[in-house]
Amino acid sequence: MTTTVPGIPAARGATPGLGPAELLHRLRAHAVAPAGDSPVTHVRREPARPGRTAPWPGWAAPALISAYEGLGIAEPWEHQAAAATLAHEGGHVVLATGTASGKSMAYQMPALSKLLDDPRATVLYLSPTKALAADQSRALARLGLDGVRTATYDGDTPREEREWIRRHSRFVLTNPDMLHHALLPGHARWATFLRRLSYVVIDECHAYRGVFGSHVAHVLRRLRRVTAGYGGDPTFILASATSGDPGDAASRLTGLPVAPVTEDASPRGAVTFVLWEPPLLPPSLENLEIEMPPVRRSALRETADLLTDAVVAGIRTLAFVRSRRGAEVVAAMTRRGLDEAVPGLGERVAAYRAGYLKEDRRAIERALLSGDLLALASTNALELGVDLVGLDAVLICGYPGTRASLWQQAGRAGRSGGEALAVLVARDDPLDTYLVHHPEALFGRPVEATVMDPANPYVLGPQLCRAASEAPLTEADLELFGGDPARAAAEALTASGALRRRPSGWYWTHRGRPEVDLRGTGGTPVSVVESATGRLLGTVDQGSSHVMLHTGAVYLHQGASYVVDDLDLEDAVALVRAAEPDWSTHARDVTELSVVSVREYVDAGPVGLFLGEVDVTNQVVSYQRRRIGSGEVIDTRPLDLPPRELRTVAVWFTVSPGLLAASGVQAPDVPGSLHAAEHAAIGLLPLMATCDRWDIGGLSTANHADTEAPTVFVYDGHPGGAGFAERAYGTAAAWLSATREAIASCGCEAGCPSCVQSPKCGNGNNPLDKNGAVAVLDALLGSLPPVES
Ligand SMILES: [Zn+2]
Ligand SMILES: [Zn+2]
Repeated sequence: MTTTVPGIPAARGATPGLGPAELLHRLRAHAVAPAGDSPVTHVRREPARPGRTAPWPGWAAPALISAYEGLGIAEPWEHQAAAATLAHEGGHVVLATGTASGKSMAYQMPALSKLLDDPRATVLYLSPTKALAADQSRALARLGLDGVRTATYDGDTPREEREWIRRHSRFVLTNPDMLHHALLPGHARWATFLRRLSYVVIDECHAYRGVFGSHVAHVLRRLRRVTAGYGGDPTFILASATSGDPGDAASRLTGLPVAPVTEDASPRGAVTFVLWEPPLLPPSLENLEIEMPPVRRSALRETADLLTDAVVAGIRTLAFVRSRRGAEVVAAMTRRGLDEAVPGLGERVAAYRAGYLKEDRRAIERALLSGDLLALASTNALELGVDLVGLDAVLICGYPGTRASLWQQAGRAGRSGGEALAVLVARDDPLDTYLVHHPEALFGRPVEATVMDPANPYVLGPQLCRAASEAPLTEADLELFGGDPARAAAEALTASGALRRRPSGWYWTHRGRPEVDLRGTGGTPVSVVESATGRLLGTVDQGSSHVMLHTGAVYLHQGASYVVDDLDLEDAVALVRAAEPDWSTHARDVTELSVVSVREYVDAGPVGLFLGEVDVTNQVVSYQRRRIGSGEVIDTRPLDLPPRELRTVAVWFTVSPGLLAASGVQAPDVPGSLHAAEHAAIGLLPLMATCDRWDIGGLSTANHADTEAPTVFVYDGHPGGAGFAERAYGTAAAWLSATREAIASCGCEAGCPSCVQSPKCGNGNNPLDKNGAVAVLDALLGSLPPVES
């Protein structure tokens, strides 16, 4: 299907004006790189793919088919028909296909046909964001079907409308938070709706991951239980971005067997995908003096240069930048570069971000369509619900975290039938570096899976209390909530007095409802408040607050910079003021870890791999101020913060001192080698599971009291674990070989941010031994059996 073209793709001159091939050619010519060292690490052209349609299913309601035909849809794509028919036949199904492949129609067909055929049936639709629910509501309205009575039920729905919705709506669009806070606690008022419930649609289900995903998994079990209590027996239809093993993730989320449909039959234009690694800068004298590690040209600067070239070439281009400030910087640099070349040309570039008013967005979209604007630098805000068409090229500044986001962003390029270009510009980061050197990890079968851990006791216990407050828990219910772990949790809750055991089951006998925060397990989130205005900028979960919001910390929020004046732990408030000092702050911490229990292990002689519970004690003790640009340490200031304790799940490996020595890692180099391996392993974990490196912590030591061996621990940063360590254990061989590759293939001499340095290291990235880390991982991989899941 696909061909890898090491040089420039053909088609030169075949298209009017400049095609992507020509653009690529120009971009290469402009790239600043030492002779012979091209920043282009890979070029792949995905040819255009025609769509494959299927006839309308015989069971689909005729009124619905005419409604689709009225919108210009002659027939469904094969995957839409396949998923819809599975659901119609009563099977739970997840459709995991690309962006713009028409996933909505796959659930609309069975759900709306049912509503049209059976005037009493109801449908519940769940989306992770209000914006998406609003979008779907508009799409349903466009179909103009009689009697469906679609209604959005969220935090903004006025009280008087809620009553009407409960009584009359047959297609309710809501979100898991509303289910948890409103619908389930008041289920008696929804009895009729739930009894008649025929379908539950879970849109964008890959959003339910980690601790939040684990909570949502229980909210859905509560929904199933309450619905069954009224005699309802709905079929679940899930829509997901492409991910590793969507069927398994959907089954974990719902607790039901879910069949995956993954074959995408929608049409696609041809795209040339380029992986781009900014070159290393030549060491400057200044850098040598303070022993700075080598640095690459920044991804922002590189993106601005590419964008400038694109505009000069007359190519409509969109650059995705991760932060708002980054997007503005790229737009400003591009404008400056263009005005230097041709005065006035800079006006054809704009920055675009969330928070713009609808009219402004429309104006920008129109200007882009008309050609008045040629380039746009945007945050990921554009991923959601904005319709930009007519783009020739997309530049992605930094890997956006998941392949789903990457394809969503790349998918913006391509005018109907035309050739499109997408360029991923790597940031100075181990994962980005790995990806631009291992295109198979991007273009091959997806490996990153949406993980969650519904058995997390910090999630399970509170959720069982919520469930018991909705209806007493029976033995059979405990099966639904996870079997043995749920039984153990119910007994612990009974012992602590939270639940009361009676012959008919477990009861919640307290006043009010148990407090459960779906989005965390770490206590009250800390509010970040601007002192001058009293404005709430956002919240930071308690686990990260000591590192991110200690007194004196420079805090970045949506690209704007603030300094923390005071962190009040008691009231969970950090007071900040807007400021742009010319230093950054780096918290230093001390971590201790003890092993509580081992869940699973692989004993490979001199090497061991373990999964289990650990207690982590972490204390942020001081912070460094470092000059922006040079990285020079200005000073180190002490902090007076209490230690934080965390019981969580960790994966760890041990390598015997003998094997280390035989692998060339001498005793004095062991700490730096393990530490470097730990950093890179944390950086690469997002390749296997949809997490952020900030969700993960690590500890390495040349001799740990519990393992009595050189050990590297990688742990979930959330109490009770979020499933990340478990996933790491299950894919250890793939994860650790990717880690080894990322380090070994980095062109630096002795370690840099692209391989073994970490922006969140509590030890100031010291000691680190890059070559030692490769030797440690080789020793490990040489002994471990492949343990793929
Ligand atoms: Zn490096
Ligand atoms: Zn470290």
